[in-house]
Amino acid sequence: MKLYNIKENDEQVSFGQAVRQGLGRNQGLFFPLELPKFEDIDALLAEDFVSRSTKILSALIGDELAEEEVNALVDAAFQFPAPINQVKDGVYALELFHGPTLAFKDFGGRFMAQSLAAVSDGGKITILTATSGDTGAAVAHAFYGMEDINVVILYPKGKISPLQEKLFCTLGKNIHTVAIDGDFDACQALVKQAFDDSALREEIGLNSANSINISRLMAQICYYFEAAAQMNKQERENLVVSVPSGNFGNLTAGLLAKALGLPIKRFIAATNANDTVPRYLETGKWEPKPTVATTSNAMDVSQPNNWPRIEELCRVKEWGLETLGKGAVSDEQSSQSVKDLYAMGYLCEPHGAIAYRVLEEQLQDGETGLFLCTAHPAKFKEVVDDILQSDIDLPAPLAKHAVMELLSEDLNADFDALKQVLRRVQ
Ligand SMILES: *Cc1c(COP(=O)(O)O)cnc(C)c1O
Repeated sequence: MKLYNIKENDEQVSFGQAVRQGLGRNQGLFFPLELPKFEDIDALLAEDFVSRSTKILSALIGDELAEEEVNALVDAAFQFPAPINQVKDGVYALELFHGPTLAFKDFGGRFMAQSLAAVSDGGKITILTATSGDTGAAVAHAFYGMEDINVVILYPKGKISPLQEKLFCTLGKNIHTVAIDGDFDACQALVKQAFDDSALREEIGLNSANSINISRLMAQICYYFEAAAQMNKQERENLVVSVPSGNFGNLTAGLLAKALGLPIKRFIAATNANDTVPRYLETGKWEPKPTVATTSNAMDVSQPNNWPRIEELCRVKEWGLETLGKGAVSDEQSSQSVKDLYAMGYLCEPHGAIAYRVLEEQLQDGETGLFLCTAHPAKFKEVVDDILQSDIDLPAPLAKHAVMELLSEDLNADFDALKQVLRRVQ
């Protein structure tokens, strides 16, 4: 597999390099030079999740890793299902929260951890990542206890749910968590700064595990196929997929699935009040506003770092950006949608409910709707209980961590302070 840097096209790397490096020169994202295309989609969809995902990822990775090796990575990473659940006639929820940290980021995080171990050149590795909540948990759990890999996770202090925080800031060992005095964009900026510091990068073997890393997106392609595989042919030929978006990695993966041949009719980019992309699609102007806090905090991102990949893919495939559906949903509206879904017998948290809301508004006769449920409702228990006046149960992984002690340290949004932390944990 060859990938090029979107910003500096002459920089080309292998899959292994892209996974180890994360970002290219000048903070450019890596993008596949060639995208394979599956001709017999029905045959592919007839396979089980792990075999199908092996074929997809093997086709992408090419001869750099043998198919059996890819199979071993997939098998270790994808140990939980991605079921669809019908909420009403012609509308399905894709439940991506059955992994160990109850959010879709388990797929990407675990596949990345496996990939990194497989392509490691034996040197020191420090994973530095910024999280608005769920990435941190997925990455922490995926790398927990791995030898020779240190993990440092930055998150905006007080801006993620207390339960979310407990899930990944209580592990210890090789997992170090840092509460930054600032918002998610401030955390992301610190990560980018660290990657710009080539001496530091070299010294500690810096690697990012956020959705910048191509291996995470590659893993996420697989569950779009898995969703389609659970529908009958007629349903899936008219499929409209609504993706609750923050950094836009999930939507990138969906569009990549389409590029590989999965017949998805249309995608919808659904956001909360942090609506940089819907406004951009409307006006053609990229005008990020300051990030605002919402009840769907994993999507509180106003400068989505995967957007250049979507532009690149649309350019390569000659898909007009106007073919993307879009919608921004307020907290009030998403709460209403949580209630609507509950009345239909489906318990959903605000991220999934945002995707449902925009899908509902835009789905046409004869189309099948699929909205992505990116987190388990209990992961946002405070918000969901408040909306529904309920007291939902905590699933086992959450209940276990909820009573453990927080191990995070506090830090100003200051690069020098961060450098000290990075050196100390080696
Ligand atoms: C990360 C996250 C999102 C946003 O996904 P992106 O790939 O960053 O667009 C949506 N919902 C939940 C629950 C998340 O954790």
